[in-house]
Order: sequence, then C-alpha cells, then structure tokens
Amino acid sequence: MKGKGLIFIISGPAGSGKGTVASILRDTLPTVGLSVSATTRSPRPGETDGKSYFFITRDEFEKLVAEGEIIEHTEYCSNLYGTLRREVVRITEEGRDVILEIEVEGAMQVKRLMGDDVVTVMLTAPSASELERRLRGRGTESDEVIRRRLARAREELAYSDKYDYVVFNETGKAEECAALVAGIIDAEHVRSRRRRDFVEGFIRDLTAACENRE
Ligand code: 5GP
Repeated sequence: MKGKGLIFIISGPAGSGKGTVASILRDTLPTVGLSVSATTRSPRPGETDGKSYFFITRDEFEKLVAEGEIIEHTEYCSNLYGTLRREVVRITEEGRDVILEIEVEGAMQVKRLMGDDVVTVMLTAPSASELERRLRGRGTESDEVIRRRLARAREELAYSDKYDYVVFNETGKAEECAALVAGIIDAEHVRSRRRRDFVEGFIRDLTAACENRE
C-alpha cells in the first residue's frame, strides 16, 4: 500500500538520457506524474506546448515568480526554467508521486523547501567517454560547444554527493534504467520513517490483542 505522494527529482547532464527515462516512468507507472515545467526558451522541433514545457515569455515567467506560482527556478543557458506549483499540486492531489526532471540548482531549492518528501536521483552515462560520444552523436556541434557541454556536465556531476542515488544509464538500456528508478520509488515508500504511522497502529492493535487474551 502506498502512502502519500513523494517528489522524485531526476537530474543529470545533457546526454544522460534523463528525459527518456522520465518519459518511460510517466508512461509505465500509473502512480507517478511528470511535472511539466515553464520555460522562456523556444520550442524545439517536435516539442508541444503544455506537454514538453509551458513555453512562456520572460515577462510572464517573472509575473509567475512574483505571484509565488513557481516553486523553484533557475537560469540555464540564458533561459529561465521553473517548476509550477499548480503542476505539483495537480499530481499530488491525485495521490500520485511527482517526477521533476530539473537541473541541480533547482533540485537543491526543492530539497530545502520540501526536505523529507523529496528523493533525488542523479542520472549519468556510465563514463566520461560515453557521455562525450553521445554529445557528439548528432555530429552538428562544434568542438567548442562540445567542450562547454562537457564542462557543464562536470559541474553537474560534482553535485552527486548531495543526491540520494546515482544511477548509470547504459547506452540502449533506458528501460532497464527506468526499472531501476521504479525500484527506488517503491523502496522509498517503504522506508521505516515513512511507515511510522502504520507500525504504530499495528503495535496498538497487537497490544489490544494481547490485553484481550490476558
Ligand atoms: P532543455 O532546454 O534541454 O529542455 O533543459 C535544460 C535543462 O533545464 C535540463 O537540465 C533540464 O533538466 C532543466 N530543467 C527543465 N525544467 C526545469 C525546471 O523547471 N527547473 C529547473 N531548475 N531546471 C529545469
């Protein structure tokens, strides 16, 4: 039996495959919902408003921050990204866990804000050379762009010891990786500190059962 919904943050450098893993979890686990963030960046081909992101202007974004409608936000590559309160409320009110696919600074903000109910997962390629191979994959980026992305990946991975879990996403094995994260989700729900109410009730019932037999 599941308790109340928890917040699972999935972070990882570009090339870690976190978007794919988060989508697999959303599509395969009815008990989780993927929060759709707001961003000021333009949609990429194939992205839809309201599904990939809510694409808004900088003015609209700043208004939402001022109104307290954005619970964490950060500037990344000259664009603003933020988690919408209404998304987290929508999913938790349905009794489901929330997945936030966000970068490290936002993750730390959410942890500070909601501590106990937040579980953080850092996803990465299994090695630096594999990450570089994935970043070069499309073959369209210059050496300078690749170098900047690798430097950013190094910064992000340096946060790993602040995360609860570090999970490797082996190439071509996104399903296995998602299964591992699904296992983490299940395990977090049965942590003893989250079962305290259940155990206390159990012990009360046992005490009553013992007394009835005296
Ligand atoms: P992209 O532009 O490639 O979709 O995302 C760039 C980075 O922003 C990724 O690391 C992604 O995880 C992060 N990101 C997406 N949405 C949010 C958000 O709501 N808050 C924060 N802090 N980061 C986000």
